[in-house]
Amino acid sequence: MQFKTISDLETRDLGFLIGRALKGGEVIAMTGDLGAGKTTITKSIAAGLDIGDYITSPTFTIVNEYEGRLKLYHFDVYRISDIEEMYDLGYEEYFDSDGVSVIEWANLIEQILPKDKISIDIKNLDEWSRMIVISGEGAGFENLEKELKK
Ligand code: ADP
Ligand code: MG
Repeated sequence: MQFKTISDLETRDLGFLIGRALKGGEVIAMTGDLGAGKTTITKSIAAGLDIGDYITSPTFTIVNEYEGRLKLYHFDVYRISDIEEMYDLGYEEYFDSDGVSVIEWANLIEQILPKDKISIDIKNLDEWSRMIVISGEGAGFENLEKELKK
């Protein structure tokens, strides 16, 4: 699936729809350059999960946890220097949980990402335009695809 947005508001609308469609247990692997909109869309996914509190980008902690309709685990692995840090964190418990794991810079931990996941890649077209490509495998992705096509 591919969505072109021409403002951050449009990206947030898409994120909200994604958040609303989630059923729990999804791992969302987010890729895209700095400033692409990974954090922006994650915040709106949180809104779609009925998470009220503002999500700040987890710059100094690898994972932040939020409580909503489902739990949201927001990872930013940009500063990870060794995959061991993910093991130390017990990442498998998050990925295997009933919550939703969103990972910014997922390309940096590709070797430990599950096969069943939702991949969201955001490309900068210009200052305000983004191409958002959603792909994936497994029940979580199939459900999302069905919901977004409604
Ligand atoms: P990342 O987490 O990928 O580094 P952020 O979400 O922190 O990116 O920042 C994206 C920036 O780009 C924000 O300042 C946002 O307002 C801006 N922006 C402009 N147009 C868009 C768009 N179409 N979609 C998402 N963000 C946009
Ligand atoms: Mg970010």
